[in-house]
Amino acid sequence: MKIVVCIKQVPDTNEVKLDPKTNTLIREGVPSIINHDDRSGIEAALQLREKVGGAVTVVSMGPPQAEAALREALAMGCDEAVLLSGREFGGSDTWATAHIIAAGVKKIGYDLVITGRQAIDGDTAQVGPQIAENLGLPQVSYVEKIDVEGDTLVVQRQYEDRYHIIEVKLPCLLTALQELGAPRYMSVGGIFDAYKKEIKILGFEDLKGGLNPAFIGLKGSPTNVVQSFPKQAKGKGTVLQGKSTDEAVAAIIQKLEEKHII
Ligand SMILES: Cc1cc2nc3c(=O)[nH]c(=O)nc-3n(C[C@H](O)[C@H](O)[C@H](O)COP(=O)(O)OP(=O)(O)OC[C@H]3O[C@@H](n4cnc5c(N)ncnc54)[C@H](O)[C@@H]3O)c2cc1C
Repeated sequence: MKIVVCIKQVPDTNEVKLDPKTNTLIREGVPSIINHDDRSGIEAALQLREKVGGAVTVVSMGPPQAEAALREALAMGCDEAVLLSGREFGGSDTWATAHIIAAGVKKIGYDLVITGRQAIDGDTAQVGPQIAENLGLPQVSYVEKIDVEGDTLVVQRQYEDRYHIIEVKLPCLLTALQELGAPRYMSVGGIFDAYKKEIKILGFEDLKGGLNPAFIGLKGSPTNVVQSFPKQAKGKGTVLQGKSTDEAVAAIIQKLEEKHII
C-alpha cells in the first residue's frame, strides 16, 4: 500500500502569538515540532506498512526549515520525504494550501492519504477535507482506529458521544486523531538513515501541471485575516464558601436565573 502522510511543522506551544501588523504567526524564538495529530498519522501509516507492506511517504508544505520535521519522520521509519516549497506558495490560506498539497500528493502517487485532524497553530481542521475534495477522494475524519480488509479500510470514527465503524474503499483520505496511536520514538539507526536519505523538493515548476496558478499563494487565497486580537481574560468568578451542598446548588440556580441562563 502506498501511503502518503501530510505533516505540518508547528510551533511547540499552545499559546500561538500573532503579529498584529501582518496577522501572521510569530515563529521567532519558538522551537518547532511535528503537529501532534500528524505524528499519530505517521505511526498509523507505519503500522499499516508493517501489516500489509508498501511504503510511507511524508509530505510537508512549508519553508526550507520544514525539512527538520521531514527528517524526524524519516528517523521514525518513513521511506521517503517530500517538501513542497516555493515563493509562489507563500501566504496561502487553507484553500490554497490544500490545492498545493493535493498537486504534490497526486505527483507522488497514493492508495491512502493521511492528514492530521487539526494543526495546533492554524487550528482550522480544513486542510485534510479540502485535499480530499481536490483529489476527488472519499474521506473519513476523526479516525482513531484503522483495519484493512483487502481494498477496504474499516475505521473507527470518534464523535463527542459515540463511535461509528465505517468501511471505506481505497483510495481514500483519513484525518487522524492522536488516539490513533502513541507515536514511536526515532531509533538511533533511523536517525543515521534519515540523514543519508534525500528529501525531494517540489516547487511551483514541478507541480505546475497539476496546479491552477490562480488558486495559490496570497493572491489565490479567498480568505484573508483582516484583524487579530487577544481574547479578553474572563472575570475571576465567584467562590461560594461556607455553604452546604444544597445551599450552594440553590445559590448557583439563583445566579443562573438572574442572568436568564435557565
Ligand atoms: C490569508 C491567509 C494567509 C496566510 N498566510 C500564511 C503564511 O504566510 N504562512 C503561514 O505559515 N501560514 C499562513 N496562513 C495560515 C495557513 O493558511 C494555515 O496554516 C495552513 O493553511 C494550514 O491550516 P491549519 O493550520 O488550520 O491546518 P489544519 O486544517 O488544522 O490542518 C489539518 C491537517 O492538514 C495537514 N496540513 C496542514 N497544513 C499543512 C502543511 N503546510 N503541510 C502539510 N500538511 C499540512 C496536516 O496533516 C494537519 O494536521 C495564512 C492564512 C490565511 C487565511
